[in-house]
Amino acid sequence: MILKTEAIVLKTFDFRETSLIAHFFSKDYGRLDGILKGIRGDSRKFASNLEPFSLNDIIFYQARSSGLHLISQCDLKDDFTVIRNNLKSIAYASYIIDLIGQLIQPNDKNIEGYELTLSALKQISSGFDAEKVLCIFLIKFLKSIGFRPRLDGCIACDRDISVAAFFNLKRGGLICSECSAADSYSSDVLGGTIASILHIEQGNWDDALRLGLSAKIKDELKNILHNFMEFHLQLRPKSEKLLSILG
Ligand SMILES: [Zn+2]
Repeated sequence: MILKTEAIVLKTFDFRETSLIAHFFSKDYGRLDGILKGIRGDSRKFASNLEPFSLNDIIFYQARSSGLHLISQCDLKDDFTVIRNNLKSIAYASYIIDLIGQLIQPNDKNIEGYELTLSALKQISSGFDAEKVLCIFLIKFLKSIGFRPRLDGCIACDRDISVAAFFNLKRGGLICSECSAADSYSSDVLGGTIASILHIEQGNWDDALRLGLSAKIKDELKNILHNFMEFHLQLRPKSEKLLSILG
């Protein structure tokens, strides 16, 4: 069966003499792994379409068993040249692409996650604060796959938490001061950080982009998100090291 979808390139690697294997995050089929035959012998064919995070309309023959589809056509829609011209934006876009490659499985359709990824790449490409874009992307993306910290009450005893709270990494949510005393995975969290997560989860992209984040809140958000992903999803994307070097 011949199928068509829009897809973002995650990564590619050479296969045999002349072919290329590409992993995409596709709008309609989740992660999509495909082979492009004869491409390396003819550099005009597909040209730069297959650079990481390029956006293409692809046509492919669906594989029945191997899971490796035959890609017959890639029509470039956006190669995000602006991202490629700046080391910092490359690092942020690569982080997002690494994460998608680890979290989205073949045929794991996630249109909301796909649209979030595309929005994040477009925002980074337009020169918006990439660090803020990444925070917004992570909060919304983790929610879309069912991972969100509990922020509306104590995760241990259910009581409302109005003022001071602690974030409990192991349980994945806020914990009151009484419960946190008995738990070594808790750390202080600013009220502004919690309010920011709730605001970003509930609003659309534009609302989230307008939200003012102090440096202190941004640092706390990054820490909570990265620790949460590492603890609960065993995730630490390869490009994280590059991001920390760039600060
Ligand atoms: Zn409690």
